[in-house]
Amino acid sequence: MSTPRFVRARPDCGVPAILRCPGCGFEYLHQQSVEVFERDEDDARGTHVTVTRAGAAADADLSGNPSERRQGLKVAFRCEGCWAVSTLALAQHKGHTFVEFLPGVPPPDEDQDAPDPVAEFVREKCVTGPGHEVRCPILFNAWAAWADLRGLDHGDPNAFARRLAAALPGVVTRQRGDGGLAFVFRGVRLGTAARA
Ligand SMILES: [Zn+2]
Repeated sequence: MSTPRFVRARPDCGVPAILRCPGCGFEYLHQQSVEVFERDEDDARGTHVTVTRAGAAADADLSGNPSERRQGLKVAFRCEGCWAVSTLALAQHKGHTFVEFLPGVPPPDEDQDAPDPVAEFVREKCVTGPGHEVRCPILFNAWAAWADLRGLDHGDPNAFARRLAAALPGVVTRQRGDGGLAFVFRGVRLGTAARA
């Protein structure tokens, strides 16, 4: 009997098999959520429990059940290789239990071509050009609030300064001109051109 390609048999070490990403074959997977679908055969509604890090939720919705007529189970795993979230599904059907590992879609590459959200923040919330400056913590806090609203990781102030410099090559970080201890970003300020 052949082994499905999403597992690697390990008879050598007493472990029966290692689950691998159905998309890229990588073997480092992180469990994200578990869904249980319980019902009597052909019942339209039953018990559906979803367990995530946030807790457990129950309803009667069986629309995501991998089994058309009976019980099912889904475990979602994020792959450390391609970052896709794939779903291991067990489906009971006519006395058999089917197992499938449904590949997820990897997120788009965060490569050089992808615009950094910091650049979008600057376009939306800032004015750029010589003569402008803003204290670093003020701009960072505005960025953090903007990012949080969008569910983005705002990172720390140093990372923000690096990303800002990459997004806006003219911007520099300098000690304030009056000799104060505060640092400012030069070449940018908060606001819109209309309110200049
Ligand atoms: Zn993968």
